[in-house]
Amino acid sequence: MRVASGRRRLGVDFDNTVVRYDELLLREAKRRGLLPPKAMTCKREVRDWIRRLPEGEREWQRLQALMYGAKIQEATPAPGVAEFFACCRRHAVEVFIVSHKTRYAALDDQAVDLWDAAMAWMRSHRFFEMEGFGLSPQHVYFEPTRAGKIARISRLDCTHFIDDLEETFLEPGFPEGIQKILYATVGPSTHLPGVRIAASWRDIMEGLFDAGP
Ligand SMILES: [Mg+2]
Repeated sequence: MRVASGRRRLGVDFDNTVVRYDELLLREAKRRGLLPPKAMTCKREVRDWIRRLPEGEREWQRLQALMYGAKIQEATPAPGVAEFFACCRRHAVEVFIVSHKTRYAALDDQAVDLWDAAMAWMRSHRFFEMEGFGLSPQHVYFEPTRAGKIARISRLDCTHFIDDLEETFLEPGFPEGIQKILYATVGPSTHLPGVRIAASWRDIMEGLFDAGP
């Protein structure tokens, strides 16, 4: 699992991996009266609950449009992600963000440009400043389809890919030989052969760098 000395190219997913919507989701779901009586904090649990409601699939898509668009500035960087990017910079590991994201959400009356919104969020969190995350804007890719995302990961010749969605790694055509790291703060729902599970960015960092941060 260690990064070999030599070529180091790390691919990272964006939504729910680099940026976290958990609190924003709970706030918005509550505001719309979509939450169950019992407390829920896990994003997956909330999503599944909403989707099972009448018109739930549409409600979920509307919520997603809001979180990824008009309200993205209320989302927060994943805990430890800033330290991880800084560590990559110190170790000269190249980082690319590869996100499956359509330009516009189907159920968004405001027609917010989701790519611009994500870039603006990254800019306001200093992703593109050398004293910040030190990422190049040219290293950010939005792909409208999951197949496009897989093709991009392949073309970039990433040595590792970090994603919160198990489905990414199960996609046919996911490049062989790439180290798969699932960012799963509450644990995966299925066993995934060949996938390393990481509960936090600190966990990912310790797995990748010999000397730790
Ligand atoms: Mg994701």
